[in-house]
Amino acid sequence: MTTTPMTPGVVPGRLTPDAYAANFRDVAPPLDEHEARVAADRCYFCHDAPCITACPTAIDIPLFIRQIATGTPDAAAMTILHANIFGGMCGRVCPTENLCEGACVRMEAEGRPVEIGALQRYATDGVVLSGVHPFRRGAPTGKRVAVVGAGPAGLSCAHRLAAKGHDVVVFDARPKPGGLNEYGIASYKAVDGFAAAEVDWLLGIGGIELRQSHRLGEQVTLDGLRAEYDAVFLGMGLAGVNALGIDAPEIDAPARRDAVDFIAELRQSDDLSTLPVGRDVVVIGGGMTAVDAAVQARLLGAQNVTIAYRRGQDRMGASVHEQDHAVTAGVRLMTNAAPVAVENGAVVLGYTADLPDGTLLNTAERISVPADMVLTAIGQRLAGVPDAVAVAGGKIAVTGPGRTSVPGVWAGGDCAAGGDDLTVTAVAQGRDAAEDIHGFLHAG
Ligand SMILES: Cc1cc2nc3c(=O)[nH]c(=O)nc-3n(C[C@H](O)[C@H](O)[C@H](O)COP(=O)(O)OP(=O)(O)OC[C@H]3O[C@@H](n4cnc5c(N)ncnc54)[C@H](O)[C@@H]3O)c2cc1C
Ligand code: SF4
Repeated sequence: MTTTPMTPGVVPGRLTPDAYAANFRDVAPPLDEHEARVAADRCYFCHDAPCITACPTAIDIPLFIRQIATGTPDAAAMTILHANIFGGMCGRVCPTENLCEGACVRMEAEGRPVEIGALQRYATDGVVLSGVHPFRRGAPTGKRVAVVGAGPAGLSCAHRLAAKGHDVVVFDARPKPGGLNEYGIASYKAVDGFAAAEVDWLLGIGGIELRQSHRLGEQVTLDGLRAEYDAVFLGMGLAGVNALGIDAPEIDAPARRDAVDFIAELRQSDDLSTLPVGRDVVVIGGGMTAVDAAVQARLLGAQNVTIAYRRGQDRMGASVHEQDHAVTAGVRLMTNAAPVAVENGAVVLGYTADLPDGTLLNTAERISVPADMVLTAIGQRLAGVPDAVAVAGGKIAVTGPGRTSVPGVWAGGDCAAGGDDLTVTAVAQGRDAAEDIHGFLHAG
């Protein structure tokens, strides 16, 4: 991770200490007991609940909501955590409007779903923040599994394997575990060090050894891991960032940064007043990362923040809820606007049009948006995957529950084909690969 370079206009300390604290507080404060009971009472406890199908980890949502309604939130937490060991983080970060809440019958009927994410957080916080780990390990099997990547996919896989009695060693390139939970998720979605607390709690099961600052391809190799361990799981996310791909040398000016780097620096900062930010910030991209970078630039005190996205608003990767959040935070959304140059302290955008066949028409029309800081958020890509592992469409090719082309090697999460680059999907794929690895080890 690099730190924000100091250039004119990009300065730290734009706000008072109180303003930083207020801006970066919990975006969705937790429900109290009364609020949780009221929210739970709205559930119809559908027999054939569509929310379960819409959740990638298939949590028994009506059951856990009934457990909250009957005053047993710890039982509700166990229902959630059995299916999704990162239920606490997912309750905070899942785009629920596209998942469980989007499928809720009350959403269909009234446009107002049961608050499943908030209820999930309510239940799991009681267990996770207690620090006491509720799951027990199975009898030791003597089998050892190597997991590459301590993100949601890798740790979900590691936890399920440890629960079955296998010994797991997790190798991660970064100094801290948690993957994007620790380095990527917007700070106002997971305040007070929740990501680190959740990982500590998860490790309470025992049998999982973390080896941070161990990068596959440097400190360890796939051949070495295959020789030493009975199985290998790759959960290394998307560690590369896409290049902008335009002929604009000035865009490499010092104040241009990858948005993921900007966010990682912010997430790791102990003192937000030391983080430099521009007065006029342009974020290029249309996904969750673009929105998170833009909103956090605003919260750091940038006056004018614009998201420039080359396609129409309906094509943005960020959910409608996130787009609304950006607009509410004072971010300007410019769609069908692609960067063509940076000159005279401004990003020059060319207007585009989405054609019916899905292609993009670049028009000759231009608009200049003042910018002393440019953040690029145009997607991450696979990096550091060993040559022996087959890749298809930019991701590790997998069959079934994460089997790669290399025998004894599984993959899941953002690095594997078939997911949708969400925390909850990574958790589901790590869990499912662990079940398959367990079957393989049992048979072997
Ligand atoms: C800015 C941002 C905001 C997001 N916000 C949300 C959100 O609000 N909600 C949501 O559902 N999803 C969100 N996502 C997506 C979500 O964070 C990811 O889908 C999820 O973290 C994927 O989990 P993973 O375990 O596959 O990968 P990661 O979380 O990326 O973890 C991969 C781990 O592998 C390690 N690693 C990488 N290469 C190597 C190597 N060669 N050797 C060893 N270790 C390696 C990394 O250090 C990292 O710890 C966001 C993503 C970004 C970038
Ligand atoms: S994990 Fe996410 S999608 Fe699944 S029930 Fe919880 S909030 Fe909804």
